[in-house]
Amino acid sequence: MMGFNSGLDIGRSYYVATANPAPDHPALQGDVDADLVVVGGGCTGLSAALHAAERGLKVVLLEGGKIGWGASGRNGGQIIPGLRKGARGLVKLYGPERARALFDLALKARGLVLDLIERHAIDCDLRLTGHLAGAVNGSDLRDLEEEAECLASVMDFHDVEMLSAAQAREMVNTPYHGAMYEKLGGHMHPLNYTLGLARAAAAAGVTIHENSVALRLEREPSIRISTTKGSVRARHVVLAGDALLQGLEPRVNSRIMPVGNYIIATEPLDDTSDVIPSNAAVSDTRFVVNYYRLSADGRLLFGGGERYTPSPPADIAGFVRPHMEKTFPQLRGRRIDHAWGGLVSVTTSRLPDVGHYGEVYFAHGYSGKGVVLSTLSGKLLAEAITGDASRLDLFSTLRPMPFPGGTALRGPLYVLGMLWYAMRDRIKH
Ligand SMILES: Cc1cc2nc3c(=O)[nH]c(=O)nc-3n(C[C@H](O)[C@H](O)[C@H](O)COP(=O)(O)OP(=O)(O)OC[C@H]3O[C@@H](n4cnc5c(N)ncnc54)[C@H](O)[C@@H]3O)c2cc1C
Repeated sequence: MMGFNSGLDIGRSYYVATANPAPDHPALQGDVDADLVVVGGGCTGLSAALHAAERGLKVVLLEGGKIGWGASGRNGGQIIPGLRKGARGLVKLYGPERARALFDLALKARGLVLDLIERHAIDCDLRLTGHLAGAVNGSDLRDLEEEAECLASVMDFHDVEMLSAAQAREMVNTPYHGAMYEKLGGHMHPLNYTLGLARAAAAAGVTIHENSVALRLEREPSIRISTTKGSVRARHVVLAGDALLQGLEPRVNSRIMPVGNYIIATEPLDDTSDVIPSNAAVSDTRFVVNYYRLSADGRLLFGGGERYTPSPPADIAGFVRPHMEKTFPQLRGRRIDHAWGGLVSVTTSRLPDVGHYGEVYFAHGYSGKGVVLSTLSGKLLAEAITGDASRLDLFSTLRPMPFPGGTALRGPLYVLGMLWYAMRDRIKH
């Protein structure tokens, strides 16, 4: 049966097939009171709930479908330090000092996630093998070199190394013009990480309800979130529905755009060293990025391709396979065991949209780089709700512009924009 967040074949994903056992959480029934109600059972919502409960708040979390079946449990699992917007972009927009503060805060996301994994013994195939950004042409390589130079000189960040074409080829067996190797990167099983966060949140006292779609948000006389079978009245609400959040708060929705993105998992490979000898997470510099990594059982998990219509491809495996085989001709004809998709929420600036309208808090729009940032954002929301907004304020001043034309027009205009970038990407090769 099609549930709230079960679209795009998530039920057939590699992650669902290899998920750790997890309890079902009953749907909300009746009217309850809490200090905080969280809408969304991905990493943003679970982290906000966990950290708020640890600070003594009574927290109820409503998930419309199943925990982790949004982007958090279906993504590429790539841990990439920093924000989607590069260091040079940040400096250009905000000047060196503020750019450094933002970058330093974003870097904390990785440490937080590693700490949670350790503290709560989350079994999620964590591999700290680095992330490699492969340049698909000479001008992209120069861009990466300038980025590495800015990271070192402005951000005082030295955990990146530029690789020649030959050095990159030793790490990943496909020809790049060179690469930027980010030593703090890596990968993990995102659904098992998310389920682990849910376990930690429940242990900290959070009441979790699945199959409980938040349908209405009332602010007066106090915050109340209603589902078909009940409601939660609370002092604060966190909206953490990301690309799936609709209708509850139009001012929040207009700043993100959901874009379909698709992933395949091959059969287990007999020789993974013929593909990614370093076991690093890899992405390339195409505007519509190819990204890939090995799973713990030796499959290649490959995301790629571009699609500008709202409807998913009828055959996801057939849609992604050519991109994989172009990158790795040695995998031509290999069996594809899993194929699924998800919605990436992007913003106009590629910076997250984080903030609050009174007691209505939100964080979303990580623009394809939310595996670790979502956990950090959730924690920042919990800090702000419990009285310390200093770190949230740093992010909330970034608020990206709404999409032109509001929610009605953002689709067509965005499609035009994407087509332009995709064409530019092709011409550059
Ligand atoms: C295919 C794909 C690949 C990606 N790859 C990477 C990657 O490799 N590295 C990286 O850093 N980032 C990646 N991302 C981005 C990353 O996954 C997201 O930024 C991050 O998971 C967002 O987490 P979240 O908790 O904010 O949202 P989600 O995980 O989407 O959680 C939102 C939850 O809210 C629920 N919800 C929504 N509305 C309601 C409602 N009204 N009532 C109740 N519940 C509701 C949904 O069901 C969902 O479970 C990828 C994303 C996708 C889709």
